[in-house]
Amino acid sequence: MNMQNHYPLLSVVIPVYNEEGNIPELYRRLTDVLEKLCSEEQRAGNDYEIILVDDGSNDNSWQLISELHKKDPRVKGISFSRNFGHHIALTAGLDHAEGEAVILMDSDLQDPPEEIPKFYAKFKEGYETVYAIRDKKAEPALKKIVSWIYMKMLKGVSNVDVNINSGIFRIMSKRCVQDIRRMKEKSRFLTGLISWLGYSHTGVMTARHERYAGKSKYSLFKLINLAWHGITAFSRVPLQTATYFGFLAAFISFLYGVYLIARKVLYGIPVMGYTSIMASLFFLGGIILFVLGSIGEYIGRIYEQVQDRPLYLVRERLK
Ligand code: UDP
Ligand code: MG
Repeated sequence: MNMQNHYPLLSVVIPVYNEEGNIPELYRRLTDVLEKLCSEEQRAGNDYEIILVDDGSNDNSWQLISELHKKDPRVKGISFSRNFGHHIALTAGLDHAEGEAVILMDSDLQDPPEEIPKFYAKFKEGYETVYAIRDKKAEPALKKIVSWIYMKMLKGVSNVDVNINSGIFRIMSKRCVQDIRRMKEKSRFLTGLISWLGYSHTGVMTARHERYAGKSKYSLFKLINLAWHGITAFSRVPLQTATYFGFLAAFISFLYGVYLIARKVLYGIPVMGYTSIMASLFFLGGIILFVLGSIGEYIGRIYEQVQDRPLYLVRERLK
């Protein structure tokens, strides 16, 4: 018998942070889809598991997960000791997933479970990852523009091609999951890491709905943080800006100096310039602080990495 038959066919990894209003509906719709999909597969081990990772919720989410687990052993739960963040919760799910293919999705039903068969069909064609290309009609225009600019920027400064707005809804092969497990960085920008893997990948158009219940757990601050993480995790360009700015400033001030001296020597015009001194002082000060800040960002990363704390702590596990 093939060893692989012992593993479930599909693992679905879902991070949960205060989603009590979504869990029952999510379970119902997801189970419907997975039952159908797995029963169509005529082979052994054609089962699935749903791994709900509770990222330190302070509502009833964990209780709901425990009840589901009692009722349906295919539902597994991991509960963190506190809130560690979306991408770390996903990482924990990947660490514990046993499926031949792993699906990542959010728990708010913005990613409709009914789209999973599309992913699976492409996966069976031989792609290692199949990600959702969101139908963006529902997104606000400003979010669309900002994420487009960000995507171009990230692609420009690194060779990683991700859309921060494309979300995490996707299917991944066991092989990709094993590779992700080998990545030891503490700051996780998971979509970037998956894109970094390479392998064959493709996207499928999927619907994107409004949240079923509750409010978004991503504040603007968390989003900016994730975006900045994405850039600094995959590119050293912010560090190099110091060189560019320095070179540019030196070049411009050299030309300007020559001009001032010529004016003084040839025409006897005295150098006046409280305004220009103040303007250039603030300008240079700003640049210096920006560059120092980005150096600090990288040092912070190194510090975090050297401390080598565990990525997350599990309070309770239902398997
Ligand atoms: N989430 C999480 N930890 C957090 C924030 C969010 O596990 O600290 C989960 C959340 O429960 C949801 C997913 O990550 O399943 C995406 O979050 P959300 O829907 O709030 O983000 P948005 O869709 O608004 O970008
Ligand atoms: Mg959402």
